[in-house]
Amino acid sequence: MEVMQVLHMNKGVGETSYATNSTVQSNIISTAKPVTEEAILDIFNNVLPESVGIADLGCSSGPNALLVVSEILDVIYAKWQQLGRPCSPEFRVYLNDLIGNDFNNVFGSLPAFYNKLKEEKGSEFGPCFISGVPGSFYGRVFPSKSLHFVHSSSSLHWLSQVPPGLESKDGRGSWNKGKIYISKTSPDCVLEAYSSQFQKDWSVFLKSRAEEIVGGGRMVLSFMGRRSTDPRSKESCYQWELLARALMSMVSEGLIEEKKVDSFDAPYYAPSPEEVKFGIYKEGSFILDRLEMFEIDWDGGDGDNYDATPTSSTLSNGARVAKTIRAVVESMLASHFGGDVMDGLFQRYGEMVGDHLAKTRAKYINLVISLVRKV
Ligand code: SAH
Repeated sequence: MEVMQVLHMNKGVGETSYATNSTVQSNIISTAKPVTEEAILDIFNNVLPESVGIADLGCSSGPNALLVVSEILDVIYAKWQQLGRPCSPEFRVYLNDLIGNDFNNVFGSLPAFYNKLKEEKGSEFGPCFISGVPGSFYGRVFPSKSLHFVHSSSSLHWLSQVPPGLESKDGRGSWNKGKIYISKTSPDCVLEAYSSQFQKDWSVFLKSRAEEIVGGGRMVLSFMGRRSTDPRSKESCYQWELLARALMSMVSEGLIEEKKVDSFDAPYYAPSPEEVKFGIYKEGSFILDRLEMFEIDWDGGDGDNYDATPTSSTLSNGARVAKTIRAVVESMLASHFGGDVMDGLFQRYGEMVGDHLAKTRAKYINLVISLVRKV
């Protein structure tokens, strides 16, 4: 399956949309903010271009897209003022995502965003030109040397495609029966298929950005990952394990065909720091300035709401987590299993997640890396 054809976050602003279910990702953006700030300040220690090129890759729709832009503009403008520059640079801001993304939702909020910029920063600021750039970041999307700073959050764990090699060649079907991502019981060939797809994609990504970013320019990227060298570790795959169980429980009731589950695999990969570093050194265009890892609770990163007793509030935590996952993966699952089973699937998933959260405080591991384009 090519990701480009089916992956998009749930559109619009309704109950199941990404716009209303993206607090986990917005917490990730806030947690990575100091790394973003440091990177931006570092770029403009040496160069003060008249026109600054900024890109956010995998911007999606909803509040997070412009939240990131606003944070980046704040930091750059503050730096200009601190340096006592007489006039503001021009800002070229490119919001990139796949063609199926709800760009109209983002464009619809631009007038209010421009007004806010003018109010907060005065008429001296800018001009600032925000545009949408559709296309896969696993390939060129911007002109050569047009960017000073590239940001991407919660997007690079999506592969360009489902790894080839998950089907056995002797007609025995899937190597990953009853599962939809790497799981505790996955054979080595499944792990290899996933990690080699990741290395291919990661290398194409770096090569493409190396063309587009000026020497000394920077990237800050955050995405799901894992601490463990073992890709079967729970911290990087348990959310998929539970989703597979919810699918299999529908199989046992005859609501979904088993072979449909066998033939579905997520185009996703949560790499280890070693895998990320290996790809950077191998590609060779970037210096790794920082690599950090942090934990984010499944239920939105709001640790204070954690409740270890299996009360209704824990169950509703389960439903909440299920909604955040649904907003992200529904387009892919619906195109494979059919839209009519989605409500039932996420109902079950919510209950299973709720049971899991009653026993343990589940967390995602996020990696944030800061890279410098070699001069
Ligand atoms: N950055 C936002 C959105 C994260 S959701 C936030 O932090 O909230 C992940 C986004 O990555 C989705 O909108 C998805 O369409 C996009 N994406 C996944 N693969 C992509 C690719 N190859 N090229 C461009 N965008 C991609």
